[in-house]
Amino acid sequence: THIDLKKLLTSIDGKGYPAYKALKGDYDFGNYTLFFDRVQSDPFASPSKIRISVSHKDSEFPEDIINSDYKKTVLSDFLTRAFEDAVYKFSGDRNGSGNSGIIRIDHCGQEVLERTSVIINDNNTEIRMEAGLPANGRRISGKAAIHIFFDVLPKIINTAGFYKNISRDFLDSQIKLKLDQEYLRKELKKRKLTAFIANGSVLPRESGISDKPLAKNAVLFNSPESLETEFELPNAGLIKGMGIPEGITLIVGGGYHGKSTLLNAIESSVYNHKINDGREMVITRDDAVKIRAEDGRNIEMVNITPFINNLPNNKDTYRFSTENASGSTSQAANVMEALEAGSRLLLIDEDTSATNFMIRDDRMKKLVSREKEPITPFVDKVRQLYEEHGVSSIIVAGGSGDYFKTADHVIMMDEYIPKDVTEEAKAIVSDELPDIEEDEKDKNTAFGEITARVPLKSCFELNGKNTKIKSKEKNSILYGRNEIDLSNLEQLVSDSQTRCLAAMLEYLAKNGFDDKTNLSDTLDKLYDKIKSQGLYCLSGTRNFSGKLALPRKYELSAAINRYRELKIKKY
Ligand code: ADP
Ligand code: MG
Repeated sequence: THIDLKKLLTSIDGKGYPAYKALKGDYDFGNYTLFFDRVQSDPFASPSKIRISVSHKDSEFPEDIINSDYKKTVLSDFLTRAFEDAVYKFSGDRNGSGNSGIIRIDHCGQEVLERTSVIINDNNTEIRMEAGLPANGRRISGKAAIHIFFDVLPKIINTAGFYKNISRDFLDSQIKLKLDQEYLRKELKKRKLTAFIANGSVLPRESGISDKPLAKNAVLFNSPESLETEFELPNAGLIKGMGIPEGITLIVGGGYHGKSTLLNAIESSVYNHKINDGREMVITRDDAVKIRAEDGRNIEMVNITPFINNLPNNKDTYRFSTENASGSTSQAANVMEALEAGSRLLLIDEDTSATNFMIRDDRMKKLVSREKEPITPFVDKVRQLYEEHGVSSIIVAGGSGDYFKTADHVIMMDEYIPKDVTEEAKAIVSDELPDIEEDEKDKNTAFGEITARVPLKSCFELNGKNTKIKSKEKNSILYGRNEIDLSNLEQLVSDSQTRCLAAMLEYLAKNGFDDKTNLSDTLDKLYDKIKSQGLYCLSGTRNFSGKLALPRKYELSAAINRYRELKIKKY
């Protein structure tokens, strides 16, 4: 019980730090239990992993919340944020060496993600935190530890862990929001829409490094009449905004008029945003993938023939491999890999695209003949992609009218307000001469094959000295000695997702790949397992981590595709 803990801390006061190891175990505090899952080995090492368990009987969270998966995700997110606030409020005075006295819980950003920081089980709530066990130099400071576990932590738990002490209206409004968001995302599919942006949404962000809403002078979103769509939400009632239909949508407009801001809002709204984010009623189909150029990346046996053929030196583009992709080949591979993983909605911004992948103008066609140009630009394939494979595209292009002909809808951003200019754009191209004959042929050819690949198990095995797989902040994973660069995955939104990717890779390396199942099916299996057993079914060294957040299948597949040792079974 807690009396044992107090005795123990008193008895090891002043001893060498390793004596803290005796803490491992659990201590009953009456209305909660405190677990020490992993005890740090010195004051400078990463803080110890602790866990608090509160039975539902004691916490008194209502039945109808803890019985629903949707609501559990919201409650978990809500409690994580509540705990973070409480930690901030109560754990001010901290002294001693190294990480002495640190208390923390995972940080949540603007998105509501499935996390391991707070896990709602059938009978209890588990809160996973980190605590820096206090020391003076390398001597245990038992008194400071008693202060943390008998004074500070109880205050934190009391404030954030029990239904009677939390803001129920606030929790309730978040649950309602989540239900509306999920309803909208389902409705999108039924109505053949790719994304919805509610009128009144605030799309711009505070700055390039802050994802919070722009507070001053933000122009609220307002749909053009022709694209205005309404929904009757289960909780918020009638809502109106711009529905972007399936097909090919072009976003145009002058520089600095808000094109990228709109696309960024769409790409990040594959996740639900928290209340007061400004984008909480921006909803995008969850299979949307942002596509960009990424020169320098590694590509392993990707079939990029729909876009690229006849490279110099007869380089194979049916099984295209390179350690140093160009802008256009990297963008082609990014498209094909997204399709392979199952995406049926591509988001492309001219700002981050390779021009020669996107378009080729008439003058260039006259100068460089078709046989000398390996690239069939995206503009000549985007229609087939939709008609043959059901893949929609939303494309930002302010610098060229090449997409006017093929686009179903053209939206112009005009001082941050969208206008439907489809008719004007179509009128401009209607009296143009047909394209060069050769080109017409291109436009009528099929998109081509989306090839599923089978990764080889052996390339994921780690031998020798360095067999760890660990994440480094948001944008990188160290796979043994290999760094996987994730900095171009714009829809990866949290360090905790990257940590989770590392855990998933570790799991897949051991139990996932079998030299038979293709990449997409292998990942689906893992996601099914997580769905039925919870995120922390990922075994290994991260067993007690409260700092994992679930990434999407597309980011996991992207991480695997960027692993420079990746090997694919010959096809
Ligand atoms: P574009 O891609 O058309 O060149 P951006 O989307 O990059 O333009 O936007 C340019 C600037 O305008 C950015 O600083 C952005 O934050 C700001 N901005 C975008 N939309 C709005 C808006 N609705 N209200 C106020 N500022 C906005
Ligand atoms: Mg832009």
